[in-house]
Amino acid sequence: MCTELISSLSPLKKSQFPLMVYQIGEKFRDEMNPRFGLMRSRQFLMKDMYSFSTDIDSSRETYQKICGVYERIFGKELQLNSDLIKVEADSGVHGGHISHEYHLKSNLDEDFVNSCPSCSSFNKSDSSSCPQCSSKTSRIQSVEIGHTFHLGTKYSEALGAKFQGKPLDMCCFGIGVTRLLPATVDLLSTSEKALRLPRAIAPFDGVIIVKKSLMSNVIVEMTSSSASRYLKGGILLDDRIEMSPGRRIHDANRLGIPFIMVLANETERSLVTQKPVIEVFTTHPKTDEPVSQGSMTLDRFVTFVQSSLYGTGGHHLDHSHVLDELGGSH
Ligand SMILES: [Zn+2]
Repeated sequence: MCTELISSLSPLKKSQFPLMVYQIGEKFRDEMNPRFGLMRSRQFLMKDMYSFSTDIDSSRETYQKICGVYERIFGKELQLNSDLIKVEADSGVHGGHISHEYHLKSNLDEDFVNSCPSCSSFNKSDSSSCPQCSSKTSRIQSVEIGHTFHLGTKYSEALGAKFQGKPLDMCCFGIGVTRLLPATVDLLSTSEKALRLPRAIAPFDGVIIVKKSLMSNVIVEMTSSSASRYLKGGILLDDRIEMSPGRRIHDANRLGIPFIMVLANETERSLVTQKPVIEVFTTHPKTDEPVSQGSMTLDRFVTFVQSSLYGTGGHHLDHSHVLDELGGSH
């Protein structure tokens, strides 16, 4: 469809290349074996992008660039670096030149990649020996979350997408948006006790739990404005004052909200000292219990959030290490 669009837009100017068009849309497939909830269903959301270049070299360059973007999305933005596997794929279906699949480790046994311990490479071949070094490989259960293809000129030739009489060189890129959700939940949650999601797609960055007697105190507003300096992904105010703070911390942990701010007895006592404190808990991928970070002033809390998110010393959340690594290599 995109190829037809491009051929209908011709003639295009040289400066318009590489031209990239994308679509996010519902797809349907006649899945014989719908299972794993959202993972393998008959209807799903997919992001596709097609690139068009005037020659193969610039097409390859675009391919590498978008692969870099995908690695950043999955690694840095979704903090999945340690469980992400990029593997060269069999591109026979599309008749392309190069193709890669992006997999997440998974217990769902939906797909697999082979891992070679000798040369630290991954492959998708069916044999159990490494195509690079012939060592015995081991099979890792996985879920495919993205795919990139260098398609060449096959489709542009067929559909007449040309520049100065020559068929355009194409790549296509896809992210399985719907399956990212169950794949990351499966990967990051260790039990049914608590949900864990990457911060980038979690419904809230933080929650403020307030004791009944403090509901109309200015400290609630102060906490909210301090928190929103770095927690841009939304802050929930839990004003279910009929429930104990402990019950509400339990609920926040179950939802996997990364930062939990509690305004209860300790805050109330501290209000007379001119240095009000809040109690802070955090939740982390691959654990199902909240971690107490103790009491801290609002200034200290802002520094704590900042260092947790960007890894500038102090207490670290797991994913800040990933950000550090990426910061060094990019
Ligand atoms: Zn090998």
